[in-house]
Amino acid sequence: MNAFENFIGGRWTASKSGALFGDENPALRGSSLGLFQSSTVEDVRAAVGAAAAAFPGWRRTPAAERRQRLAAFLDLLKASREELARIVTLENGKTIKESRAEVDSALVEGSHHVNQIEVFFARSGPAAFSDRTWMQFEPVGVAGIISPWNFPMNVMCRKTLPALLTGNTVVFKPATFTPWSGVFMAGLLEKAGLPGGVFNCVTGAGSSIGNALVADPRVRAVSFTGSTAVGKQIQQQAAANLTRTQLELGGKNALIVMDDADLAAAVDAAVTAGFSNAGQWCTSTSRVLLHRPIARTFLQMLVARCEKITVGDGLAETTDMGPVAGPVQYEDIRKAIRQAQDDGARMIAGDMFDSGGQPAGYFIRPTVFTDVAPDMAIFRDEVFGPVLAVCEFDSIDDALALGNRSMYGLSSAIFTSDRRTAQAYIDGIDAGLAHVNIHTGYKEPAMPFGGVKQSGAGLPENSETGLEFFVDRKAVYVRG
Ligand code: NDP
Repeated sequence: MNAFENFIGGRWTASKSGALFGDENPALRGSSLGLFQSSTVEDVRAAVGAAAAAFPGWRRTPAAERRQRLAAFLDLLKASREELARIVTLENGKTIKESRAEVDSALVEGSHHVNQIEVFFARSGPAAFSDRTWMQFEPVGVAGIISPWNFPMNVMCRKTLPALLTGNTVVFKPATFTPWSGVFMAGLLEKAGLPGGVFNCVTGAGSSIGNALVADPRVRAVSFTGSTAVGKQIQQQAAANLTRTQLELGGKNALIVMDDADLAAAVDAAVTAGFSNAGQWCTSTSRVLLHRPIARTFLQMLVARCEKITVGDGLAETTDMGPVAGPVQYEDIRKAIRQAQDDGARMIAGDMFDSGGQPAGYFIRPTVFTDVAPDMAIFRDEVFGPVLAVCEFDSIDDALALGNRSMYGLSSAIFTSDRRTAQAYIDGIDAGLAHVNIHTGYKEPAMPFGGVKQSGAGLPENSETGLEFFVDRKAVYVRG
């Protein structure tokens, strides 16, 4: 079986621990796709040391050259599209079509950042008492990047490119469910000709090595995507050194459907954003709020669509929805479903447990609950699985009150044909992303991507803010 190493200081190296962990294909319980380093705090320190040593040289490398290297990386990524998509599907479980889309969107976002960098570095301002003045951007230093398993290559790319383009060096830790994609991306960056130490990749359990990365005083910026609980820990640890953090966290995203909506389009949005990636997007729809007059019809249409969804091995081109990412997710989602049933919600689509033998993988059918009250866990807590909680409302004000009744505020959507209702929603919803007649998972590279309330903190990813997170601002005044 293949054993993969860490990438530190431009060299592939084994962990000082001598220990390895396996990477399971979630469509096949008990399988192992490869072995990865169970890294230690010492390994992380070595990676940070390599990144710190490489920083002065990389910072002085002309931006045009950095741009060229990262454009070469994007070319390699494009050429590896099919191989990488297969790896993503094998270790994450999502369908091969979804994995290809993940690579494609990383290419679009990456090109956006590579193109932006040409005009990014300085902004002039009106000089009042000096002759010339401008704001100059400087790289912050070593950036720690911690990524999740739900978009194992895309999220890494969305953070790593802005960090490297702006002149920072990087230590990257992929999620334990999906180390292969991370290590594969490290290999592409090596092939793109980055100097040793500019990009480093260390695998291993976040609970044991994450702290070493975040709390190291040489790390000046931490970009994290994952759970709100870990995000809060990271912010606390980073505060000790005033290290800046970019946190993209959980959500409980609401889709509002008004009685004047195009119902077929709204059902399509619920299915797309509810069940793509088995409901494991941070922007997945997880609450569906229905205007009472159309609720019955909408639910009939939704259940009919759910029954047609083919759940199975993501590598089969005919599969619509793969397994969830691993055993922990599987158990957590089943627990949330049981809790909803115990609380009195009604399952109108989905599996009844204990009806068959042990499935080969971590498969959960698209699940829909009605009769959901806002104080139930299924309405309140992020499930991160293919589960929709449905509530009904009587007016746009009620819908907004329900939509905002959450500690989260990442994404949201409304389906309506009335512009005033749409505007009331845009103004009234507490979320980082507001969609009108578009599903909750949609985003574009030129727009910021991040949440409010407990869904995120720090400058959002994507767009200019994605680059700005990784720079310090220097005010320059010149006379003569
Ligand atoms: P985590 O937040 O635990 O993991 C995300 C990343 O953080 C992984 O790389 C993980 O490493 C790492 N990590 C874990 N603990 C620490 C730590 N103490 N310090 C630094 N890094 C750490 O998410 P889970 O994978 O456990 O998923 C749990 C829930 O989080 C999901 O059910 C979902 O609700 C939410 N989530 C949200 C995502 C989003 O896109 N916003 C993405 C993924 C999860 P390791 O894998 O080794 O544990």
